[in-house]
Amino acid sequence: MSTAFTARVDAALADRTLKIAIDRTTGTARSKRAAAVAAWPHFQQARALGRDIKAHVTANLAHYLAEFERNAIASGAQVHWARNAEEACEIVIGLCRQAGARSVTRAKSMLGEEIGLPHALAEAGIERVETDLAEHIVQLAGDTPSHIVWPALHKTREQVGELFRANHADPGALASVEAMVGSARRQLRAKFMAADVGISGANFLIADTGAICTVTNEGNAELTTTPPRVHIVTAGIEKLVPSLSHAMSLLRLLVRSATGAELTQYTTFHCGPKRAGDADGPQAFHIVLVDNGRSKMLTDGLAEMLSCLRCGACLNHCVVYRHIGGHAYGGTYPGPMGSVLTPVLDGLETSNDLPKACTLNGQCQEVCPVMIPLPTLLRGWRDRSWREGLEPATVRGAVWAWRLMVMRPGLYRLATRIAVPMMRLFARRGWIAAMPLAGGWTRHRDFPAPARQTFMDQIRQQRGQS
Ligand code: SF4
Repeated sequence: MSTAFTARVDAALADRTLKIAIDRTTGTARSKRAAAVAAWPHFQQARALGRDIKAHVTANLAHYLAEFERNAIASGAQVHWARNAEEACEIVIGLCRQAGARSVTRAKSMLGEEIGLPHALAEAGIERVETDLAEHIVQLAGDTPSHIVWPALHKTREQVGELFRANHADPGALASVEAMVGSARRQLRAKFMAADVGISGANFLIADTGAICTVTNEGNAELTTTPPRVHIVTAGIEKLVPSLSHAMSLLRLLVRSATGAELTQYTTFHCGPKRAGDADGPQAFHIVLVDNGRSKMLTDGLAEMLSCLRCGACLNHCVVYRHIGGHAYGGTYPGPMGSVLTPVLDGLETSNDLPKACTLNGQCQEVCPVMIPLPTLLRGWRDRSWREGLEPATVRGAVWAWRLMVMRPGLYRLATRIAVPMMRLFARRGWIAAMPLAGGWTRHRDFPAPARQTFMDQIRQQRGQS
């Protein structure tokens, strides 16, 4: 493991407040999702349908991209293509400058984080106002999101209260969550109305109409995209669906898996700029379609990952995420889905710790609404890391020695006869709290003491053999 990753994990494990914050939110998310799934008799059939819709789009990506572009242009939108994060930021900043923007409002978009848009806007001297409540908290704290659905999951409500008291013009008493929401609303309202440009992501790009769909629970996406003169959408090319009915099938899966609700409070379809007779809407509507490694995933054995709906269920059910939180992963996307995506975005050389920070218990795949085989994809990265020689010499040497031993039964028996009694010297009440060469394991949890006899010895004894 790299020292940077280990240091982040150590810091996260030592932070008791972080653990409380993670347990509160992921615990609620898991129980709400479980109730929603139990109340939906056809959930497994819906999952299979969701998987098939996304697989079909991935297999016909070029066709649906062309159809989406054609229909979006026909609706009055301007479509831009970005091969990578730099191009995407350049396009967005260029559009903001063209609009003479000094202030932009932004609705939560993990793609925006992925391409580094907050940083690019700051460099361009454009004020960025995060309008999602959790993103607002993250912005006030000078943080980055730690969860793809609840970006401020790492903050307790007590910490949020302190932040609002220090930063809001009119925080009030902040005695309840409702009072905190009221404080944020008062703080953000004027910003919504004054912004020159509104930037959003997209949950779905609907090919047969050229519309984009956003889902939120706060209505902030609507206030971000409607009052400003210009609406810019940044979306990954994998967000495509053939039609509205396909979007609705996936939406039912997405919302139940994310929050346990049947539908989000706000589900909005944006189709081109304001037309004659419309009461409101932007004068210009831009859609920036971002590749940033996605095309390469098609040919790199990662096509299934393009089905991801960004629901966050795999994070909420991941035993590793629930202990270390999102920041320890070090990338834009944490948890199991992040451990698959970060090597695509940042390179395997700098992130090959992530696929290894997994117990492979399969819970993520069990809860994924589109049945992405996350453990298989993580094993694929491990395999590639080995083949590309990225494992340290100590690991390679240990695996070589292990291979040598397990291929020679006599040597294996001899080694276990020596190792087991030695390990038992360090055992207390069935557990080993510390042992030479095992510090990486025992620093944070005990190791089970080996049985007095090997499995083979026990079998022989049962059969009455010596
Ligand atoms: S991998 Fe599956 S469970 Fe995880 S965020 Fe994506 S869709 Fe949700």
